[in-house]
Amino acid sequence: MTMSGALEKRLKPILKDIVDHFGTPFHIYDETGIRDTGQSLINSFSKVNGFREYFAVKALPNFHILTIMKDMGFGFDCSSIPELVLSRKAGAGPDDIMFTSNNTSAEEFQMAAADGGCILNLDDISLVDKVPVMPELICFRYNPGPRRKGNIIIGNPVEAKYGVSHNQLADAYRRASDRGASRFGLHAMLASNELNYEYMVETTKMLLDIAEWVSENHGVAFEFINIGGGLGIPYRPEEKQLNINAMAQEITELFSRFQKICKYTPAFYIESGRYMTGPHGVLVVTAINRKETYRTYVGVDACMSSLMRPGIYGAYHHITVHGKEEDKTSETVDVVGSLCENNDKFAIQRQLPKIDDGDLLMIHDTGAHGHAMGFNYNGRLRPKELLLKTDGTVELIRREETMEDHFATLNFKPDIFKP
Ligand SMILES: *Cc1c(COP(=O)(O)O)cnc(C)c1O
Repeated sequence: MTMSGALEKRLKPILKDIVDHFGTPFHIYDETGIRDTGQSLINSFSKVNGFREYFAVKALPNFHILTIMKDMGFGFDCSSIPELVLSRKAGAGPDDIMFTSNNTSAEEFQMAAADGGCILNLDDISLVDKVPVMPELICFRYNPGPRRKGNIIIGNPVEAKYGVSHNQLADAYRRASDRGASRFGLHAMLASNELNYEYMVETTKMLLDIAEWVSENHGVAFEFINIGGGLGIPYRPEEKQLNINAMAQEITELFSRFQKICKYTPAFYIESGRYMTGPHGVLVVTAINRKETYRTYVGVDACMSSLMRPGIYGAYHHITVHGKEEDKTSETVDVVGSLCENNDKFAIQRQLPKIDDGDLLMIHDTGAHGHAMGFNYNGRLRPKELLLKTDGTVELIRREETMEDHFATLNFKPDIFKP
């Protein structure tokens, strides 16, 4: 069972009532599931010094979700000004925000330094001189280049625009020291949706080796290492969960070894987005049309504005039909939205029970990089977001977009310039 199966079970008896009250389409997130996953991370890494999750805000940038993360003691990984603002609104202080931007602008540096600042993670050596005031604590994002193979999704590090190259790294810390930094962190993010825990262990080992090397040669001790996000979730029913306990155990051993050699231990940070919330959201839609031409198409009342992943990455999202879970009859269909783009399909040639107009479909694992990625092409608006809370109530945590929202940027003072 996919982890969103747990949410499906919780939703089944109440879904019809929720739909009657709120109407479709909507993403609904499961507070219990999110908290269970958060707690399992805390438990797994309990033996690692200073373990902390910095939730990747881009995965699910909703104030109410960030509040849950804050309550669990997590920080936030931000890479834009709106993400910074939202995290601070959710109560994040300077130590609770990791600002991992790339191609950073002067305005972003200013906002990062506002309100007591945050943990600045620099993406390039040239940025050392562009930080308006060098903070005491500075981190660099490391790109190992040919020293490491990327995972399938994120690709080859040599081709990645992110991070400081191997040969620049020691210099980067030296220059930051010269400008007044006295505390240091080291970061890398090399994987995306990786289900093989060994990859994360290797990244940890790589960062600890680098930390050891920079410590020895340049007298810089590291306060933390951060392996980024990229922990995968099983989108397909036949896929296995990432083995978080094995990952934690091997990482714990790497840290003990480091302690023995270097006589100190950096804290260990991760920045999971998908792993934290992905399985704890579903997109609920209603079937509104059925079309039989060269293929059978089931048209639903949402489109790529609600969920881009299938359209842009060909990503698989499991689909179940409410009330027809045990239905043995099945047919092969494309589940489609109404965008004038043929990649606007939630599923292609999928075996599903026979779907009639009015049936409710659950599109699974939409809790991360789902609503957040939606766009407004074709004037298609983004749906609402709901939260199934631990007390059993369901709260609207974002309303659907309206036409007024959509036209808001056409509302301005006339400005005609004759050069
Ligand atoms: C996107 C991103 C993450 C989160 O990635 P997931 O695959 O959702 O875990 C973490 N850190 C950085 C720097 C990112 O860009």
